[in-house]
Amino acid sequence: MRKVLVTGGAGFLGSHLCDRLLADGHDVLCVDNFFTGSKRNVAHLLAHPYFELLRHDVTFPLYVEVERIFNLACPASPVHYQHDPVQTTKTSVHGAINMLGLAKRVKARILQASTSEVYGDPEVHPQREEYWGRVNPIGFRSCYDEGKRCAETLFFDYHRQHDLDIKVVRIFNTYGPRMHPNDGRVVSNFIVQALKGEDITIYGDGSQTRSFCYVDDLVEAFVRMMESPKGFTGPVNIGNPGEFTMLALAEKVLSLVGGRSKLVFRPLPADDPRQRQPDIALAQDKLGWQPKVALEDGLKETIAYFRRLLEG
Ligand code: NAD
Ligand code: UDP
Ligand code: UDP
Repeated sequence: MRKVLVTGGAGFLGSHLCDRLLADGHDVLCVDNFFTGSKRNVAHLLAHPYFELLRHDVTFPLYVEVERIFNLACPASPVHYQHDPVQTTKTSVHGAINMLGLAKRVKARILQASTSEVYGDPEVHPQREEYWGRVNPIGFRSCYDEGKRCAETLFFDYHRQHDLDIKVVRIFNTYGPRMHPNDGRVVSNFIVQALKGEDITIYGDGSQTRSFCYVDDLVEAFVRMMESPKGFTGPVNIGNPGEFTMLALAEKVLSLVGGRSKLVFRPLPADDPRQRQPDIALAQDKLGWQPKVALEDGLKETIAYFRRLLEG
């Protein structure tokens, strides 16, 4: 049993990670300021003897004693991270400094939830970890992209300068139950629209691509990365290489939900990446990991979740 800190633990990915860590027998401290996360995501854990929930903003120092830190705190959807962009950069940068300072003091191993957004709108495809990215430093997405890039810089400098035991994963689009119903991300948008019989909003002509990983696969990769041999820092891509156009995704969601929704086309947001697909050779090699859940199966689980949410 280890004492494990999960920042952003009341969010979508963080709450699934808390479930898994408790099931594995660990003592879990979940820290969250409830900006995009909610108590509802972890309500089922509150009575667990080895679960503790702390309301705290990671841009402020945190003094606790732990052995492992998963640093997930940061709004992840464009609607949320652009709502207060300065706070988004602070969360990534000051949050990383505080969690790294904590890891340094207590000699904890620390994992950063980075993102495929560090590759920006890439000119190489699929993206390997060696690719440096193509990111606009002053655009609407920059608070997130550059904040996450700076956090990676801090992780590697604490590693080189203070010999910190770091792990960095670059997460590609992930979906599943407990996604925010109105955070504007494509999977939740399409499912909620289809369930309500509303128009399905396709941005641009729908030919842009994304690769979608189911949350259970992602959590497995988190755990494997955290327990990988010391010295393997990453960054390592985590995602599902199955690549789909937004048009194909809309049609798949519609066919699974049924109903009479129509596809409608809306303007493409600024700096929207054209295509995105992870190269996961490194994760396969170093972690023995690859995703198992097919898009159709993961969508069925996610649709069932949103159906319950909308009915309840
Ligand atoms: P989420 O918004 O559901 O979770 C983020 C959590 O962090 C929320 O619970 C939120 O309240 C909390 N938080 C935000 N700012 C905070 C602060 N200053 N102090 C404390 N808590 C704070 O998003 P998610 O999808 O679960 O993403 C989790 C992590 O994974 C994020 O770091 C995100 O950048 C990264 N990520 C997610 C995806 C994805 O597809 N879901 C892709 C790439 C990277
Ligand atoms: N910090 C923290 N918890 C700790 C130790 C440090 O939140 O247990 C924060 C503290 O606010 C500090 C930051 O982490 O500013 C960076 O710590 P570090 O030791 O690297 O730098 P310094 O304390 O010298 O600024
Ligand atoms: N998108 C869309 N309709 C929506 C929401 C998003 O067509 O209702 C598109 C969006 O323009 C982008 C893709 O779906 O090309 C993925 O968007 P999301 O916000 O989920 O993730 P990200 O752009 O951060 O990968």
